[in-house]
Amino acid sequence: MLLLASLVVVSGATASPRSDNLVSKAVQALGGESALANAKTVAVKGTVRQWEPEQSVMPGGDMRLTNDSTFEIVVDYGARASRTDVVKNFVYPFPRTYTFSEIVTPDAGYVAGIDSMGRTKQSMESNPPAHAMSGLRLATTQREMRRASPMMFLDMLRNSDRVSDAPDITVGGVSYPAVNYTANSQTFIVAFDPQTNLPARIRTLDYDNVWGDVNYDLVLSDWRPMAGRQVATSQRYQLNGRTITERKIIDVQTNVPVAADRLMIPAEVKASAPKPATSAVPYQWVIRRQFHGFYLDSDNPSFDVRATSGLRLSEIGPGIQQVVGGLHNSLIVEMKDHLVAFDAPVTDWQSNWTLDAAKQKFGAKPVKYLVLTHHHMDHVGGLRAFAAQGATIVVGKGAGEHFRRVLAAPYRRNPNLPAARDLSGTPILEVADKHVLTDGQREVALYIAENPHSHAMLIGYLPAERLGFVTDLWNPGPPLGATLNPNQAAVVATVKRFGITPLKFAGGHGSTADYSTLAALEGK
Ligand SMILES: [Zn+2]
Repeated sequence: MLLLASLVVVSGATASPRSDNLVSKAVQALGGESALANAKTVAVKGTVRQWEPEQSVMPGGDMRLTNDSTFEIVVDYGARASRTDVVKNFVYPFPRTYTFSEIVTPDAGYVAGIDSMGRTKQSMESNPPAHAMSGLRLATTQREMRRASPMMFLDMLRNSDRVSDAPDITVGGVSYPAVNYTANSQTFIVAFDPQTNLPARIRTLDYDNVWGDVNYDLVLSDWRPMAGRQVATSQRYQLNGRTITERKIIDVQTNVPVAADRLMIPAEVKASAPKPATSAVPYQWVIRRQFHGFYLDSDNPSFDVRATSGLRLSEIGPGIQQVVGGLHNSLIVEMKDHLVAFDAPVTDWQSNWTLDAAKQKFGAKPVKYLVLTHHHMDHVGGLRAFAAQGATIVVGKGAGEHFRRVLAAPYRRNPNLPAARDLSGTPILEVADKHVLTDGQREVALYIAENPHSHAMLIGYLPAERLGFVTDLWNPGPPLGATLNPNQAAVVATVKRFGITPLKFAGGHGSTADYSTLAALEGK
């Protein structure tokens, strides 16, 4: 027992003169211990621009700008509470503005107003709209507030047991000395500018459902004196070196009075509000689904835990099951001795669920083909679970190289799949224009659909059943508008181009609908 205890101490975080020195110099460069400690409240104003790399038009292509926003944060350090008022101007997938506020306390989070198209039951039933943050969002928001706060350095200075040596981080040929800082079971790697001693880069080692093990960095620059200390007025967030968020700080005030009610979560919401999640937080999913305003604020990323008991199979026809119950659907088609699946939404958790459900429904038939309609992160994030059980990945022409790189990326931090298999050799089939998967009886046809949403987009079609499968271009089920939008028009054009005659479509979103309802809008 004694031996074990001493081993734990040795392998745990140990402060060193080197790391202590880096921290104390950084605190000095930031304005000194007392300047930080004397701030009881802080108010910060700024702007934010965000880009989503995995909503690009081309697979692996340029990121899409998703929003251009402003924010005002107030933090009461004594109350350990913050309020962020946001005006978020989205440009993707369509222009809209959300004005909302987030209140974050140590054990609950609250959103007043509408902040997403993927609203939860609690938000829909609340008047005015409001909801408790999920434990996943609360833990993520707390982590990101900690990362961006200068109080991190005060905490490091005063708790050197939370700091340990880390290898230097080298960026652009410059070597930055670094330390590990662990608080609330979250570890940051903090790198310092060797010239100014100021913090330069604050890194976490995250898991991304597309790119696997990733570095997520806050890069600090353009330091200016504000409110008695140095402030990084340029704050860029980088995912594996690509800037996906650009934040500019315009104004900082300390010790402004903050009315207590501005930081208060209504008692009736707080009563059932989840505590911050403590394990397997899909940080990148939570952060980036908010970029374009489609985040579903739920403790299961796949479905609203307050609205439904979970995912379920919905039978569309003999041997044809749609996975529904969440925001993102997939489709399973039974063949003679195997299965064909369409899309692998969200995470490998959802894929594991789908593979289990398929096994119960269809016995030991393996998924031989996973057809990915397009490369966007919300429809492919669970591809590894299918690849790991031997599926061939089927994609549109031009997407193969992208998925080869995705499948070659390490995924040791995947919370849902042991990284036991090297997936880099996964077979990938590219569909140039049309391809038919067949077992000699049932046919599953795949067609390229030219459209504005995504290059290399596939539409599925079962000719005998006259059933199509479409993702994102048209969400079958919800009411249609008075005219076709460009994506819906692309579905109609594809149907015509290939001369197919669908009766019904099942969707990667929505449910199913008669094709005639869509076709009727042509020319209107
Ligand atoms: Zn998409």
